[in-house]
Amino acid sequence: MAGPEDGVAGTVEAVRFDRVTKRFGGHTVLDGLDLAVGRGERVTLIGPSGSGKTTILRLLMTLERVTEGVIHVAGEPYSHMPSGHGARGAGAGPGGPDPKAGLVPASERYLAARRRGIGMVFQHFNLFPHMSVLENVVEAPVHVLREGKEAAEARARELLGMVGLADKVDARPTRLSGGQQQRVAIARALAMRPEILLLDEVTSALDPELVAEVLDVLRDVARATDITLLCVTHEMGFARDVSDRILMFDRGRIVESGRADELLDEPTHERTRAFLRAVR
Ligand code: ADP
Repeated sequence: MAGPEDGVAGTVEAVRFDRVTKRFGGHTVLDGLDLAVGRGERVTLIGPSGSGKTTILRLLMTLERVTEGVIHVAGEPYSHMPSGHGARGAGAGPGGPDPKAGLVPASERYLAARRRGIGMVFQHFNLFPHMSVLENVVEAPVHVLREGKEAAEARARELLGMVGLADKVDARPTRLSGGQQQRVAIARALAMRPEILLLDEVTSALDPELVAEVLDVLRDVARATDITLLCVTHEMGFARDVSDRILMFDRGRIVESGRADELLDEPTHERTRAFLRAVR
């Protein structure tokens, strides 16, 4: 199967939304959205509550399906698959999917394989309470990626060290602070070796004094890896530090986008100005 490395290396986008519309009943949440995120790019989505930011991340996690339009990940269809995919096998031939071939909504099986390259950290940490911190991080690499237990544990310890929790590997999540639990959730997401990491308001369930430790860990992750990041956050300092680009959303559309410092310091759109005044 043709991977992103084939062809024009480095130019394949990590994520592309082509005219994506998402409706819930009669309510249009995303309205013909075009969005491209480069490999290794860090993009933050900002905007008022209800503007569709989380829906974008949930579509990428396949927790929702598009109503119209197509999502591509790493240059290949993601929300859809080439028609005849099942009959002809993955990628539909040696050259990968034929761009002229019709696309049909992706099957569960197609999605299950493709979403492994995407990790997500949620507002609520969703750790397994009956497992130790180490077991939480090791679970998916062993059961989904079929990594050997020893290798998975070694990597989990390394990741837990990176998020500052080397001394908590044997603890139960319920014994940890919210900030510590969220750092476990970050290690757990990274253990799946995602190429794309989605961060959905990862500090908004935390007590204010615990926010900094989580954001510091994420800054380290951003510095230490070339992972593609898509964040939804109300922490503008964090957005400034980690983002190459910020997209301002309003009612399911991008009203303004630009380099992080430019958009935050000199917003051109009145909606952006009003939003930034409200969150600062
Ligand atoms: P944001 O992240 O910008 O706050 P969301 O993407 O969470 O916005 O939500 C956008 C809109 O979609 C909201 O009005 C929300 O109520 C609606 N919405 C999200 N998920 C569902 C759902 N499963 N069913 C119905 N409406 C939904």
